[in-house]
Amino acid sequence: MRVLIAGGGPSGATLAALLAEQGWTVTLADVLPSPSRNAYSSAALPLAEADRLHIPHHCRSAPWCGWQLLDPAGLEHQWWAGDPLGVVLDFAAFRSHLWRRVQRAGAELLCGWRVSLQQLRATSADVLLTSSDGAVRSCTVDVLVDATGPGRVLLRQGGVAVDTTTDPLLTGEGVEWLLQGTPRTTARWRDRLSFMLGSNWVPHGYGWVFPMEADRLKVGVCRMAPLAGTSRALSVSLRELLQRCGLDDLPVLDRHGGRVSSTVNRQEKLGDGALWAVGDAASTANLLGGEGIRHAMDSATILGQCLLAGRPLLEYRTELMQHFGWRWRVANRLARRTWWGLDDPSADRRMARLIQGLSGQASAEGLSNLLFQYRFERYGWRLLPYLI
Ligand SMILES: Cc1cc2nc3c(=O)[nH]c(=O)nc-3n(C[C@H](O)[C@H](O)[C@H](O)COP(=O)(O)OP(=O)(O)OC[C@H]3O[C@@H](n4cnc5c(N)ncnc54)[C@H](O)[C@@H]3O)c2cc1C
Repeated sequence: MRVLIAGGGPSGATLAALLAEQGWTVTLADVLPSPSRNAYSSAALPLAEADRLHIPHHCRSAPWCGWQLLDPAGLEHQWWAGDPLGVVLDFAAFRSHLWRRVQRAGAELLCGWRVSLQQLRATSADVLLTSSDGAVRSCTVDVLVDATGPGRVLLRQGGVAVDTTTDPLLTGEGVEWLLQGTPRTTARWRDRLSFMLGSNWVPHGYGWVFPMEADRLKVGVCRMAPLAGTSRALSVSLRELLQRCGLDDLPVLDRHGGRVSSTVNRQEKLGDGALWAVGDAASTANLLGGEGIRHAMDSATILGQCLLAGRPLLEYRTELMQHFGWRWRVANRLARRTWWGLDDPSADRRMARLIQGLSGQASAEGLSNLLFQYRFERYGWRLLPYLI
């Protein structure tokens, strides 16, 4: 079997390694010239998931053992656990690790190559590869995988509908800066994930400060606005957040950004003929917390098993649904309700009440279960206004 995977993020790289390790002839192509370019992901994960996915320690930049929420009025609420609950990855180091694994497995790795679909058939596809220096290659493959993330480049080129009018794609746009702090300036942000919630922080979204090793901080904002959109630039929200947090004087080491997107019901086709989608391109991300690394990697494992066993596309979708479960689907409904609605003082008051309620009721572990395992039922009545 000759396979071409477009996109070397967590999903594409995981799938490439898995198939190559099983003896398939695999090419992985990414438009990025190096794994450290646009390391856009904040890359926070629960510790148990990082261990389950065998993410090496050198990719884990900093642990976290608490949550800190700044409510619409700027009041800080904290929850602490005795032991680490999660890690913040160095996304560039993580991508490098994945790409090395792909090469070790015997797959061909093409960095700085853009893939485009020329012709799609039931059992093969013609593709064009264009390198950053203008070289062109064309080939025919038995299996073509769209792992291009939220852009869903190949699905679109193949004419596969990525959403419907009744279940449109929801897209969160994020920008993040990597800052160099000092032990003094990072003390308020160390060992915890901090989120800023309220329309005067970020309309239709949220801000965050995540710790990294060597007194570095990832500071970002993400917005998931209704389709009509909002005109306030994300960079304005980020600068204001930096100012309000007293971080606006810190040197900026890197600026990056990206998108995360999914349909809510996840009923769209995940490919056609020889084309299959995986990871964010297959709507696996969780829009509530804007996280999808582990989902991308899990979907790659599921797709790999389907391809190796010769299962059809429909079974792939069924297996994804079974693996992620109903809570994963509810999370996207909750995300739409929460982020779309967060744009006025009454929504801010609701958010402040929710945070206040969690303050009295939840533990740090409970918050992790809520946000990463989607254990909503414990807080059911408080979250109800967001679900309806
Ligand atoms: C601001 C922000 C913060 C985030 N924070 C977190 C977080 O804290 N925790 C978490 O788990 N998740 C987070 N996510 C989401 C997470 O990063 C994604 O869900 C995950 O990276 C998806 O992996 P993927 O492999 O499916 O796609 P991607 O990581 O998007 O990879 C797609 C790859 O395809 C390449 N590509 C695109 N088009 C082409 C083409 N035509 N030819 C070749 N290559 C192409 C791109 O260069 C890219 O490398 C965040 C996302 C954003 C935007």
